Amino acid sequence: MADIDLDFSILKPEYIDAAVNNKLDGQTFSNRIWQNKANMIDKLQGSILDAMQGNTTIDKVGKDIQQTFNVSAYESQRLATTELTRVQAQASQDIATNTGLTKHMWSATLDTHTCEECAELDGKIFDIDDDSSPEMPLHPLDRCCWINVPFDGWQPSVRKDNMTKDIIDYQDYNNWLSDIGDVESKNHGSKIDITDIAIDKVPIVDIIGFDDNQNKLLQQKHQKLLKIAQGDNDSNEVLNVLTTDFYNEAMTLGSQNGVDPGGNPQAVALMRTATENSVGWIHNHPGGSTFSYTDIGQFLKPQLKFITIVTNQGKVFVLDKKDSFNFAGIYAKIKEIKNKYGGTVTNENHDLIVNDILKMITKYGVKYIK
Ligand SMILES: [Zn+2]
Ligand SMILES: [Zn+2]
Repeated sequence: MADIDLDFSILKPEYIDAAVNNKLDGQTFSNRIWQNKANMIDKLQGSILDAMQGNTTIDKVGKDIQQTFNVSAYESQRLATTELTRVQAQASQDIATNTGLTKHMWSATLDTHTCEECAELDGKIFDIDDDSSPEMPLHPLDRCCWINVPFDGWQPSVRKDNMTKDIIDYQDYNNWLSDIGDVESKNHGSKIDITDIAIDKVPIVDIIGFDDNQNKLLQQKHQKLLKIAQGDNDSNEVLNVLTTDFYNEAMTLGSQNGVDPGGNPQAVALMRTATENSVGWIHNHPGGSTFSYTDIGQFLKPQLKFITIVTNQGKVFVLDKKDSFNFAGIYAKIKEIKNKYGGTVTNENHDLIVNDILKMITKYGVKYIK
């Protein structure tokens, strides 16, 4: 969880003062999980201030709460992160009101943990006293913050890329994401209708860490996916987001050229609560093509252990993370490859870029089955 640590060293003293005046009220903490609420709230209040002053990190606050109150790592991290966001948001609004500012900008975190709703809000400006503006935190584990807008037309000049930890020129979340890999490929080839023969010949593939039984289950998932695409979706794309223990899954139907799991609340929830390497994405490519640039971008998400394609002809492609998976290395390499082809992915250079990436991807702790 180290990558969700935030850096508060830039905070001004009045920010801390405002935070001190915003006591947690405990309404949002479930009685079922938190036996000793009053103590927990006191402790958390102190820890959040410590984190805001740079004396501790929110990751350490979570661990500390976990040990003191004997709750799960997930619950404690969730509480610490969500409440920090709440206190910060309140403090920011207090400062704005005290200094006569009237507008603030929603700011999400530039990494792949950020949810679709927060990503959409990133960079949007709201009147501080507008009751219809979205409430922060928007959801548990929200890491967004408000930035006060000093004058109309103002825009931040730089921000932090939380994947690379670099300070980059300001761009909003969606522009940033399209830079790292959310480009729809139009190069999928023309659609091939799924036949029963194709479904029958879907092979067993070997996922790292799976036994024969689990590999067999995945084969059945691939076959079921093609059956659904064939029967319910006119042989178009279908995505199944499933947990690697096969207990949970969320199926999303798409078009011939792609599928948007962001439109399926079940898939969004599954991804939001998933821990590292606990999810696999399996989907069909109606035109029989290999991984797209978008697929590779998704595969880099920390929650994903593997991504597979089962083509409408029953062939399976796999990208699977080894223990030695090197995110920083592959991320830098993808940027380098993209720059070689002009810096942005277009329909013209898409296949060249993907080809180059797939050629070197195994050097970064990835198993590639084709
Ligand atoms: Zn958020
Ligand atoms: Zn795909």
